[in-house]
Amino acid sequence: MKQPTVALHPNVSRALLTEDQIRERIRELGAQISRDYAGRNLTLVCILKGSVIFMSDLMRELTLPCTVDFMRLSSYAGKESTGVVRVMLDLGETAEGRDILVVEDIIDTGLTLSYLMQNLKTRNPRSLEICAFLDKPECRKVQVRAKYVGFQIPNEFVVGYGLDYNEEYRNLPYVGILKPPQA
Ligand code: 5GP
Repeated sequence: MKQPTVALHPNVSRALLTEDQIRERIRELGAQISRDYAGRNLTLVCILKGSVIFMSDLMRELTLPCTVDFMRLSSYAGKESTGVVRVMLDLGETAEGRDILVVEDIIDTGLTLSYLMQNLKTRNPRSLEICAFLDKPECRKVQVRAKYVGFQIPNEFVVGYGLDYNEEYRNLPYVGILKPPQA
């Protein structure tokens, strides 16, 4: 695999996805979404904070009129899902009658998105779909159907390209696997 153009962070054991791979895949996703929603106005719902970088790169690949809104949900502490999802920040605009595309960083157990999709459905959007940057299918506890997925990855805890570990590493331009904590 081609190595990242920047040096690896000392706490990262290896890069799983390089900047080039990410850029190329986001171009493909942008083209596909632009075709699928041609002639419509799309509302992208960015799930904070992990999806910020993915969202900002993805939306620049869209050739459609689109608006952006944000939600923040909480179910994680460190590396573990607590399983209890809370809405920390809700949409600023109504979802009713809109074509909503939820932009998420990663699907792991599926608990967060499963909760979110049920929540958004009650607001009567015209359509409701998911675009996830990463998917860890091995970890699923509840079924979630994402129409668009950037990459399927193995069951590893990853950081970078928006994804954090206790709020660090979001600014890494690649997706990497953290080294185990030093004793
Ligand atoms: P789920 O509810 O599907 O288990 O988890 C979704 C959320 O868990 C993601 O939005 C993300 O914040 C967090 N998450 C799950 N797996 C990882 C991972 O490998 N790395 C990081 N940084 N966050 C993860």
